[in-house]
Amino acid sequence: MTAWTATRGQEPASRAPVTTRFAPSPTGRLHLGHAFSALLAHDFARAAGGRFLLRIEDIDGTRSRPEHIDGIVEDLAWLGLRWDESVLRQTERLAAYAEALGRLRAAGLVYPCFCTRSDIAAAASAPHGPAGALYPGTCRALAPDARAARLGEPHAWRLDIAAARAAAPARLFFDDGRLGRIEARPERQGDIVLARKDAPSSYHLAATLDDAWTGVTDVVRGEDLVEATHVHRLLQALLGLPTPRYHHHRLLAGADGRRLAKRDGAPSLAGMRAAGADPAALVAELRARAISLASDGEGPTLRQ
Ligand code: GLU
Repeated sequence: MTAWTATRGQEPASRAPVTTRFAPSPTGRLHLGHAFSALLAHDFARAAGGRFLLRIEDIDGTRSRPEHIDGIVEDLAWLGLRWDESVLRQTERLAAYAEALGRLRAAGLVYPCFCTRSDIAAAASAPHGPAGALYPGTCRALAPDARAARLGEPHAWRLDIAAARAAAPARLFFDDGRLGRIEARPERQGDIVLARKDAPSSYHLAATLDDAWTGVTDVVRGEDLVEATHVHRLLQALLGLPTPRYHHHRLLAGADGRRLAKRDGAPSLAGMRAAGADPAALVAELRARAISLASDGEGPTLRQ
């Protein structure tokens, strides 16, 4: 373990070198939207003489594929992006996620949830059920005996959001380089899942712990993840972790004006490479898009 690894996440933010990361899930090939996000995070770190890390979010065993991890590394290298340190795979960190979940459990802030997707959908669509897709709290209401008797069944762990809010400072904030200071409203997400039936951690818990552990000072990611940040801010308060600065960038839109997404058939970098695209030209084009999005009325996209 290097000296730096030993102090990961423990340096005061003011003295820590700027550190950003790109954290894709290996559930498919990267497309232009990913390249845009990776490039913004990379450039932000490099402009500050800081570090750029690559983290593979592979805890979802049902959707992650090893060949996609190789594909991500290959695509980023093709773009000419270099990262510091070795690539971190979240499947190497399961013990840390379990330890943090254990602390929340000991504090009485999480509960086991035995509901299936269809139980949740049925409760949510009942005439007087809760609005939207929020978890209706069925398992929060289980009596301790009933809960203990069922622990042998497959279960997820959910954060009891009311208890968690009561255990943290009443008002929590995070700073975003583009959107300003934002008050965290994690309760909008209800009792979120922190460990799944089929995965020992959820995105929220793993990403929050890893950002702290690897000393990330600046989280650069798409604005589709702003709501997640509200939850991450609460987890930071509960687990005693530092709060990085955030830079939620605008999403790159395709020619039809809609955001690029895998499910809508956004062209993959691998496909573009196979078609003979020039990576240097592509990177220049993405940097130009970043500048034009930034001058589009909302102030700079990424302010150091
Ligand atoms: N793994 C997430 C994704 O691919 C990104 C998470 C993050 O940047 O915090 O959407």
